[in-house]
Amino acid sequence: VLFTKDHGAAVAALHGLKRSPDWSRAKKAHLAKQANCIACVAQPKGLARVVTHLFRPVDVHHIIPLHVCGVIGLPRLELDARNLVTLCGAHHLVLGHLGDYASYNPVVKFHVIRFFGKTLDVVLADVDYARFVQERPREISLWTPDEKAVLRAKLEEKFPA
Ligand SMILES: [Zn+2]
Repeated sequence: VLFTKDHGAAVAALHGLKRSPDWSRAKKAHLAKQANCIACVAQPKGLARVVTHLFRPVDVHHIIPLHVCGVIGLPRLELDARNLVTLCGAHHLVLGHLGDYASYNPVVKFHVIRFFGKTLDVVLADVDYARFVQERPREISLWTPDEKAVLRAKLEEKFPA
């Protein structure tokens, strides 16, 4: 785990939000269940995993980002296992955030299946992918109160407390 950048925390800081003190525990618990990037074909185990992750560290990605959860008033989703998936650095940006850490991919799990086994070059050149990037959620500070309320209601139903 050399020199990884905490993109989620960096974006959250722009919104005056911080990670929960319980985050490192939630992250560890998630990695114990899902150690490898779900979008990578290679799923190393044991020592091979240790070596692979030394050179290509994995991130625990929030499907609905920390800053979005905070801004819409559902900070509990930061620690909700249902909101977490493991991605390598490249897949984190390309599939988890559709190319912009200020945005996110609400259907990342579908896109992991849609693009499984494709190289990053192929994904980035895909016409569907270009459309998904076009349609990715706008930066949260541009949302109307109604848009935030709609997402909050949807997520409360999807991830009941
Ligand atoms: Zn990956």
